[in-house]
Amino acid sequence: DRAADSKKELKKETLLGIDKSKTGDFAGWYQQVITYSEMIDYYDISGCYILRPWAFEIWEHIQHWFDAEIKKLGVSNSYFPLFVSKKALEAEKDHVEGFAPEVAWVTKSGETDLAEPIAVRPTSETIMYPAFARWIRSHRDLPLCLNQWSNVVRWEFKDPTPFLRSREFLWQEGHTAHTTFEEAEEMVFQILDLYRRVYEELLAVPVIKGTKTELEKFAGGFRTTTVEAYITGSGRAIQGATSHNLGQNFGKMFNINFEAKDGTSKIPWQTSWGITTRSIGVCVMCHGDDQGLVLPPRVAPLQVVIVPVVTKKFGLDQLSPFVDKIVADLRGGNVRVKFDTRDNYTAGWKYNHWEQKGVPIRLEVGPRDVEAERVVVVRRDTGDKQEMPVEAGIQGRILGVLEDIQNNLFAKATASRDEHYSRVLEWADFVPALNKNDIVLTPFCNEGEWEEKVKAMSRDEALQGGSEDVRTSTSVAAKTLCIPLDQPELPEGTKCFVSGKPATCWVLWGRSY
Ligand code: AMP
Repeated sequence: DRAADSKKELKKETLLGIDKSKTGDFAGWYQQVITYSEMIDYYDISGCYILRPWAFEIWEHIQHWFDAEIKKLGVSNSYFPLFVSKKALEAEKDHVEGFAPEVAWVTKSGETDLAEPIAVRPTSETIMYPAFARWIRSHRDLPLCLNQWSNVVRWEFKDPTPFLRSREFLWQEGHTAHTTFEEAEEMVFQILDLYRRVYEELLAVPVIKGTKTELEKFAGGFRTTTVEAYITGSGRAIQGATSHNLGQNFGKMFNINFEAKDGTSKIPWQTSWGITTRSIGVCVMCHGDDQGLVLPPRVAPLQVVIVPVVTKKFGLDQLSPFVDKIVADLRGGNVRVKFDTRDNYTAGWKYNHWEQKGVPIRLEVGPRDVEAERVVVVRRDTGDKQEMPVEAGIQGRILGVLEDIQNNLFAKATASRDEHYSRVLEWADFVPALNKNDIVLTPFCNEGEWEEKVKAMSRDEALQGGSEDVRTSTSVAAKTLCIPLDQPELPEGTKCFVSGKPATCWVLWGRSY
C-alpha cells in the first residue's frame, strides 16, 4: 500500500493550507484567503486584479439584488463610453481638482500622439451630464434616473489592496436629475438604505449611515452620505458606499436646464451614487477565519456542498442514487448545491478545500449514512456537526440552517463592531481608544482646520507611542468616517473634544482603509 500512501501524500500536498492567522498577520492572512479560495489572482500591472468566478459570482448576487431594487425606484440602465474628453472632465473645477491626481490618460494611438489626450473615466458625471443637458428640456423630462454597471479607473497612490482599493474596479453608478431639492434628497436616502441592505442583509456586515464632512465629501457635490463599515480583525473602518446630493453645481457647469410648470427656466437637482467590488473584500475580511473564507449564504456561489465518503465496497455508484435525491430536493428550494464527485481527491481534501472557499454547509454522506437514511450536516461558521434524517426531505431544514448562518454572521460582526465603538469627550482619551482598535464618536466643532489637525495629531501621538505607520493605505492617522445620521443628544454647552469650541455634532472617527 506504499503507492496508495504516497498518492495520498501527494493529494495532501496539492492543497495549500492557510498558515497565517487573522489576528497575527492580518494582511498576510487576507492575501492567502483570497488566493487560496480562488477569488483573486494577481496580474502584472500593480493595483489590477483578476476576479475569478468565485469572486465574480458574489458580485453577480449583489448586482442582481440591487438592480431589481433600483428598478423599483424607476431607475433604468444605460451605458456611456469609457473615455472622457479633457474639456468635459475639466468643466467642474472642484470635481476635477478632486480627481485629477488619479486620472489615467490615453495619449497615443500606436506610435502617434493623439491631438488631444483623452481620459479614462474615474466616475462618469462629466460623461453623462452633457447628454443630460440635451435630453432634459421640460419638467416632464424629470426625474431622469439612469444607472450603469461598469468599470472605472482611479490611479491610486495609496497601496492597493485587492477589492478594497484597486486601480480598476467594478461598480454601479447611478445618476439622477430632479425638479426639486427634496426629490433629490429622497433619492439619495432611498439609495443609501439600499446600500445598507446590501451590506447588512446580503453581506452580513453592519454599517453606520452618516454624512461626510466638507473635507471628505465628493468633489464637486453638495453633500455626501455614506455607509461605513468596521473590519473586525484589522481594527479599521472602511467607507462602504456613497450616495451624493450634487445640488445644482453640475447642472450649472453643464448647462442643464428645464422649463418649470410656471414657464421659468430652472436647473435640476442631481444625485449620483455608487457601490463597488470593495464590498466583497469587506465581507471577506469581516467573516473569514483561520481556515479561510466564510461566506454569508445569500451571496455564496455555492450554499451546500455534498462530499461523498466512499469505500472500496461502497463507491460512488452505490452512493449516487441516494445523493441525487437530496440534490433534487435542495434544488427544488433554489439552494445552490454541488455534489463533489471528483475521484482524484480524498474526502478529507475536499473538506479542507470547500472550507477554504467558505461554503456555508457541508453534507457528508458515507455508506452508514445511506443505510440509516441520514446526512451529516456541518456548518462552516461554527463548525457544528449534526445528523439529519432525510426520509421526509431536508430542503426546509437546510434553508433554515442557511438562514441561521446568515443571521449568526451578522450578529457576530455586529457584536464585535459594537465592542469596538467608543465615545470620547476629551483629546487625552482619543488616541488610546484608537490604539484599542476602536472607532470613536466625539463631540466636534466640525471645522475643516480642526479635522486636519486631528489627523496630524493622532498620527504623531500614535507614532510616539510606538505604533508603526508602515503602509500609507493603513495610516495610523484617524480621519472622520461620518457624522452619523443617528445623533445622540448633544447637551447645550458640550465642547469639541479637540478645539474646545462649542460642539455642533457628534462625529465618528477611525483609522481606515
Ligand atoms: P466615490 O465616487 O469617490 O464616492 O466612490 C464611490 C465608492 O467607491 C466609495 O464609497 C468607495 O466605497 C468605493 N471606492 C473608492 N475608491 C475605490 C477603489 N480604488 N477600489 C474600490 N472601491 C473604491
